[in-house]
Amino acid sequence: MGSPVFGFLKQNNIIFLRFFAILVLSCIPDRTNLCSNPSFDTPTIPPHTSSSSIPSSLKTLTLDGYFSFENLEHAAKDFGNICHYLPIAVLHPKSVSDISSTIKHILYMSSVTKLTVAARGRGHSLQGQAQAYQGVVINMESLDRPSIYIENGEVPYVDVSGSELWINILHETLKYGLSPKSWTDYLHLTVGGTLSNGGISGQAFRHGPQINNVYQLEVVTGRGEVVTCSDKENADLFYGVLGGLGQFGIITRARISLGPAEKMVKWIRVLYSEFSTFSNDQEHLISSNNSFDYIEGFVMINRTGLLNNWRSSFNPKDPIQASQFSSDGKILYCLEMVKYFNPEKIDVLNQDIEKLLSELNYIPSTLFLSEVSYAEFLDRVHLSEIKLRSKGLWEVPHPWLNLLIPKSRIFDFAEGVFGNIVKDNNNGPILIYPVNKAKWKNRTSMVTPEEDIIYLVAFLSSALPGTDGLEHIMTQNQHILDFCAKAQLGAKQYLPHYHTQDEWRAHFGTQWETFVQRKSAYDPLAILAPGQRIFQKTISIT
Ligand code: FAD
Repeated sequence: MGSPVFGFLKQNNIIFLRFFAILVLSCIPDRTNLCSNPSFDTPTIPPHTSSSSIPSSLKTLTLDGYFSFENLEHAAKDFGNICHYLPIAVLHPKSVSDISSTIKHILYMSSVTKLTVAARGRGHSLQGQAQAYQGVVINMESLDRPSIYIENGEVPYVDVSGSELWINILHETLKYGLSPKSWTDYLHLTVGGTLSNGGISGQAFRHGPQINNVYQLEVVTGRGEVVTCSDKENADLFYGVLGGLGQFGIITRARISLGPAEKMVKWIRVLYSEFSTFSNDQEHLISSNNSFDYIEGFVMINRTGLLNNWRSSFNPKDPIQASQFSSDGKILYCLEMVKYFNPEKIDVLNQDIEKLLSELNYIPSTLFLSEVSYAEFLDRVHLSEIKLRSKGLWEVPHPWLNLLIPKSRIFDFAEGVFGNIVKDNNNGPILIYPVNKAKWKNRTSMVTPEEDIIYLVAFLSSALPGTDGLEHIMTQNQHILDFCAKAQLGAKQYLPHYHTQDEWRAHFGTQWETFVQRKSAYDPLAILAPGQRIFQKTISIT
């Protein structure tokens, strides 16, 4: 016979574990891990006291794939190139059951170790989010991917592995005249990686982010269970995982909604020198019915030569006037619009575009046009990648800052930041465009400002080798964040990165409780995605 306490525990196991987990998860220390200082790449608290027995323990697992324990430096690197945390092992899974068995084994070991697990898609994170210091990194790309399945019926969709790249999905679906509706600007990212964040691009004003366009997921939870979830089945897990920063489960399959694909795009850029005219036009376009299919924009501060760069890929509508255009040192705002079309309907397209442009107030001499294939347009950033790689400039540090700003404060933001805090954008592009949040599903884990229209503002900086660029850019990013806080703009970070629990709590706001409850339900020992630094792994009690 057990003691009354253990009898109570047995009967109320689930309730107790939940309560315990909530208690522990809510009590993480204020400062869990640091990465804001680029030279600081080793956390102060070792995740477990004796790590020497872990490899031999992991080796006892029977897997379709395998573990590697040496030469793991690549798993301590990401696109940000600022944080570098070495794992103890990398799992190269071949099957979903490899992932499930590994998580279950780590749970089994959790009374003696604080071992954690990070799924790594392409490692395009910015601040170590796909890394696990002295933990296990799962190299999702080695997962055997069943072929991409396309359902070409009344409600078309594609079934893909969580490790599939969006570029492959594009090419496969185009064979059926279909395509996903919502994208990111760059397609060499994994489905699991972008669905863990949101996935925002110039189509989001109409279709919402990528997490809005998912019908079903297969997920391995932090309990090691393989669960299928959707709006109808295990809906709490489904919505939790979407935008859930990898905290509740590892996405192994996704069913993504498709729509008809056009063959070509008309790609248009126009310039403004007044921010309010620019943003009014952007907001007008995202609210119009028969609008463009893609709407973005960017800021040019002290970038006088840029129009000349465009000439290699864009044609000015009026070459003479365009050649005479001068910015007079002003900040310029570029509105970028795209309309998809099939060549047979070019006349209708031209009429539609003419009408849409006639409603805008851009500087007339700055109308630039281009025509490329749909696939070429969507894969446009890859061309820059190839060029930058050839110059050794792709693998530099990327201290990016992405913010979501409510429409009501975007003018204050622009006035306070462009030209004041940010004096030029020689380090990389600054994107700025509004989206209709009313079109977004609101049960996901993604956090946004509470207004119907919000702006994504992305400072996509690169720190060039041999300069003090990294420090300068990171200081500038902090000034922007400080400005937002002081002016109480109600901004939220996208691809968020924080150091303290208070900051995470503030980020999630009213959604924090739900986030913590989901964590305790699906990953009660906080094994998953430690690189996000939201929760700290707990030692289990048995
Ligand atoms: P990783 O960096 O490998 O992982 C990201 C996070 O998700 C980590 O916490 C990881 O543990 C977790 N994770 C990875 N795989 C899974 C999985 N299968 N299941 C659960 N969790 C998982 N984002 C946009 O929204 N819009 C853009 O336009 C855009 N443009 C970009 C352009 C470039 C050049 C780059 C480098 C990034 C861009 N991003 C954009 C950001 C991108 O969405 C993130 O980098 C995202 O993390 C995807 O990268 P990844 O697939 O390599 O994921």
